[in-house]
Amino acid sequence: MTDTAAQAALHAAAEARAGDVTISGVTKRYGDQTAVDGLDLHIAQGEFLSLLGPSGCGKTTTLRMIAGFEEPDAGDIRISGASVVGVPPHRRNVNTVFQQYALFPHLTVAENVAFGLRRAHVPRAEIGDRVVEALDMVRMRGFADRRPTALSGGQQQRIALARALVNRPSVLLLDEPLSALDRQLREEMQVELKLLQARLGTTFVFVTHDQGEALSMSDRIAVMRAGRIEQLADADTVYGSPASAYVAGFIGRQNFFSGTASGALVEADGVTLRGTASLVDGTAVRAAIRPEAVRLASGSEPGENRIVGRLVGISHLGESMQYIVESGRHSIVVLTPRPSAPSVQPGDDVTLSWDAQDVAVFPDERASQAPEPTPAAS
Ligand code: ATP
Repeated sequence: MTDTAAQAALHAAAEARAGDVTISGVTKRYGDQTAVDGLDLHIAQGEFLSLLGPSGCGKTTTLRMIAGFEEPDAGDIRISGASVVGVPPHRRNVNTVFQQYALFPHLTVAENVAFGLRRAHVPRAEIGDRVVEALDMVRMRGFADRRPTALSGGQQQRIALARALVNRPSVLLLDEPLSALDRQLREEMQVELKLLQARLGTTFVFVTHDQGEALSMSDRIAVMRAGRIEQLADADTVYGSPASAYVAGFIGRQNFFSGTASGALVEADGVTLRGTASLVDGTAVRAAIRPEAVRLASGSEPGENRIVGRLVGISHLGESMQYIVESGRHSIVVLTPRPSAPSVQPGDDVTLSWDAQDVAVFPDERASQAPEPTPAAS
């Protein structure tokens, strides 16, 4: 290969990688608290990746380390192939959108969006064009002369997005940016954000504790637990084939049955569930069945993958009906699409049934944990 051809190949490889993020063995501690614990994660160029998990699992700390607001205690973070450890935030070609829009109230929308470009001494003529381009991206061109106080929450968040995109970052970091919006607006913005990301091809790293939000937008979801990734997969996989009871319980709703495995059977306090995989006899397990996988019918016909109980509650959830059925010490939730809702009343005896392929069985981690210390007698 000639020198020029080699340089062109190198350049092409770097272009293809511009905006990918590689996190290798990253740990971050605050005192004796480990916020992020030996994290490995590769985010591809142009990917929409969500970091999902409950409060305190390390999502924001991970994002802040990519942004450069925090430095790892161990490990490496590479953006577009180059290590950014020790590199200040404004030199990383990333930008962050926060939950709080933090717009300057005394500046117009256009001035807010132009602020970063002015500080970076971008030529005045170019600033005007780039502000218009960024406002177009978020469909807010007509609002350039308004003050932020004259905008709705959703509009303010769009301006915050335009302000982050105007610098043309190769990675956009979003820290729960929709959580201050009401539900309908949040759902509209989810669609908009996904479309915008697909159009721009910019890598998005999105932090959320809202599983619906992560499922609706992401190419892949990293479900985090105690500073580590419990499962990294697309929405279909984390929903349909969760890697653990923790993921199963966090993504969507589940009916859990604690019991003991015997081949493909789980005996759980009067209920016999048959799954599709065989487990070592005597293993303590948790079987999980999604509410939408349970069928409800009137009558009492016990058996395998069936349970007889009493209907104690019916709620309308719009497109579906929710039923609560009590059986022994189990309380089971059933979701049925409204058109196929059975004709039953609270107080009726009912039979619930499901298919073996809808029974997910996980080792019961709680069974292997040390018992809680008992309080000393006073
Ligand atoms: P949330 O959804 O509540 O923001 P999170 O998953 O983003 O949670 P982090 O904010 O990353 O979690 O926090 C992870 C752990 O690190 C938590 O236990 C938190 O209390 C701790 N932590 C985070 N930042 C600091 C800090 N500046 N000083 C001390 N502890 C911190």
